[in-house]
Order: sequence, then structure tokens, then C-alpha cells
Amino acid sequence: MRRVSEAPGVAGTDLARLQRRVASRYPNWLDYAGYGLFHAAALGVFWTDPAAADLGLFAISFAIAMTGATLCFHRYFAHNAFETSRRFQLLLAVWGTLSLEKGPLWWASQHRHHHRYADTPDDIHSPHHQGRLYAYMGWFLDRRIREAELSQCPRLAAYGELIWLTQYNFIPPAIYAAGIWLLFGWDGLIWGFFLSTLAVWHATHMISSLLHGPIGYRNFPTLDNSRNSLPLSLVLFGEGYHNNHHHAPYSARCGLRWWEFDLNWWLIRLFRRCGLIWNVRAVDPADLAATDGRARTLCRRLERWVGQLRPALQAAIAERPAACRLGATARRQVEHAVEARLDLFVQTAQPYLSSSPGEVARLLDRLPAALSAAVPAGIAAGGGAARLAVGEAVQQATARHIADSNLRYVFLPTTARAGIRRDEAVRMPAPMSGDVEVVPGTKTPALR
Ligand SMILES: [Zn+2]
Ligand SMILES: [Zn+2]
Repeated sequence: MRRVSEAPGVAGTDLARLQRRVASRYPNWLDYAGYGLFHAAALGVFWTDPAAADLGLFAISFAIAMTGATLCFHRYFAHNAFETSRRFQLLLAVWGTLSLEKGPLWWASQHRHHHRYADTPDDIHSPHHQGRLYAYMGWFLDRRIREAELSQCPRLAAYGELIWLTQYNFIPPAIYAAGIWLLFGWDGLIWGFFLSTLAVWHATHMISSLLHGPIGYRNFPTLDNSRNSLPLSLVLFGEGYHNNHHHAPYSARCGLRWWEFDLNWWLIRLFRRCGLIWNVRAVDPADLAATDGRARTLCRRLERWVGQLRPALQAAIAERPAACRLGATARRQVEHAVEARLDLFVQTAQPYLSSSPGEVARLLDRLPAALSAAVPAGIAAGGGAARLAVGEAVQQATARHIADSNLRYVFLPTTARAGIRRDEAVRMPAPMSGDVEVVPGTKTPALR
């Protein structure tokens, strides 16, 4: 049996030809109409008289669609967490389409894009850059990311059946729906197709919108804001350990602590036991112990501090427009520019938390000036006086926040702290010039 990992992949003009083939052939508004139709049809549930069979059908369809999106599309197609035969790969692809989250190549390519640019302005669904509603469902319907990007998955594009399924991804679910209707009638169709699909959509939307902050906890100081959530993971069959996942995206196993139950991992182990898949890649839970406990504590402390700083900066910016006659649009531009610069600071600081926290103290010294430097870039209109006033407000608010929290003191090495009392530490003069440094090799958002 030919193993799919041996496939050479597609490049050049062949890839361009296939890219044209997978292009959507129906107008964009039908995406919105379809999304609305499912919500309207699910409302039909109030006119049904649900029998136990309908509830059972809902649970089975939910499980099929949820594993389709999370195990098939996510862990296999997007991340190559294991290897399999071409036949089983096809089954996984058809299974995945039953989630109605488009085709395997669209899912894999757009998700790889998310990992490449997670929580930077180029991310396709970052709640920090595009807003929480867009990260929840807006991106899913956005015409700009409607097509599969085959350059992100050239190996998978070598399979004609995957291209076909990406092009005609609605056919397997249509057959599934017709089968349910024939066997169980209208009530069955509403519970076992429309309502279950809706539940899967909204559950998976929560990953992109909630698990990059604000809820959840972190096991690893990754460069993005990914979080883990046990309650969401129980609904999402293990996909809610999003911080573990961003730490090791290739891993077929996402739950690492003994209580981080990961249903998909158990299914993957079952498939391996049956000989359907092999070469399963999984992160070693010992990684958790290897991650320095102190670094994790510092990471949490820094996150909490940044979480408090954000509204303080917004308040400082909001106080000035009245005096400077900044319009609402200009104010939003400033807020976005400052937030982007703050994200850059967090991304730059995080790798230092385990290696040299003293470096974070140094970066903190330069943060007030760096944030105020983001202001002119944010104000497209408005005079020099406005820029100066808002820049000063941002700088003062940041410096005050640093002084009040004593955070700089926390990050100083023990040797440097030895001769300084905490209250003295906050009075140490901080240089007000310079910019946030960028560590080579880390992901850096394009600053505007
Ligand atoms: Zn993510
Ligand atoms: Zn992923």
C-alpha cells in the first residue's frame, strides 16, 4: 500500500493550475445565506417534539462533525500529526467535510496560516487585532480568505481526490442530510443535522475567539496568547488545550496533565492500535516539567500586568481627544497602534522569561518611550500638538503603571536586587528614549 507521506507534492505551474481549480464557483453572498439558513433551520427545533432517538441522533452527529473538524481536518490535515494510507486519508477527508467547515485543503491551508502568524496583525483570526466578533465568526465568512491557499499545503494538493473534495465539499454533508431525512424525517433532520452542525460551528468558533485570551490558563510561555481551558476541551474533544497545542502544533496529543482529558488522543491511539495510522507524533508530557516553573510564574505575572495596562492606556488616550480634537477614528487608530506595540513587547519579552528575566527589566525601562512612539504612526490626521499630547499621556500612563506595580523589580536578577529595597527599585530612573528591541528569529508583527 502506498503511504501518503511518500507523495512528492505539487509546485510551479501545476500548483497554479490546481489553485484555479479549487476556486469557489458560487457567489460570496451564498456563504452568508447558508450560514443564516442553518441558524433559521435550527430554530425549527421549537416546533419539534423530540424523542430519545432525536437526541441520540444529535449526539452522534455532533460527535461525527466535531471529530471531523478537530481530529481529521485539524490534527491530521493541518498538522500531519500521524501518517496513514491514501484510502484512510480519503475517509478522513470525507469525514471532515461533515463538519461543514469547507474542504480539507481550505481548512489545512488557512489554519497553517494562523499558526505562522498567530496573534500578529497578519493572523487570520486574532481577537487582539481584528476584534473578538471577527475572530469568532467574521473570519469564517470573510471573502478575502474564502479560497484554499495551496502553497501552504503542496503535499496534500498532489491528491486529486482532496482537490475534488475541497471543490465540492458540500456533497458529503448533503448526502448525509438526505439519509437522515429519509430515515428519521424532519425532526431527525433538524436535530441530527442543522442543530448539531450549529453546535459544532459555535464550539469551534470559541477556540479562535476565546482561547487566544481572555479565558484559560497557560502551561507554556509561547510567543502568542494561546490558552488552555478544561471545560471547553470537554466539549471540543480535547482541542481546548490551545496553549499546549501552540507549544507543539505537530502533536497528536494535546492534553498533557493527567486531568487534561483529550478524547481525540484516545481515538488516535485506537486507530493506531487497529493499524489504520502509524508514525504518530506526540509531545512528551515531560515537556511540562522541563518548562521552568519560575518562568511560568513570571509569564503569568507579566500577562496579568499587561492585562491591567491595556485599559489604563485606553483611558489615557481617551482623556486627550477632547483637548486635541481627535476624532473617534483617529483615536481608534492610536489605540490599535499602541496595542500592536504592546503585543510586540510581550512577544519580545517572553523568550527571556526562562533565560534571562533581567532582560525583561531592561525592556520595561524602554517601554514607555516605545509606546508613545507608536502614537504618531497611529494618528493619520491631527496636528503635531495632538501627537505630542497623546504621546505624553501614553508615556506617563505606562511609566506610572510600571512604578506602581514594582514589576521591574520582580524581573531584576537576584544579584542586582540584593542591594536595592523594593521601594527604592521603583524610583530608579528609567531611560525614556530608544525602542523595543526585536529578537532575531521571533515572529514580529509588522508595525504600522
Ligand atoms: Zn491558535
Ligand atoms: Zn493548530
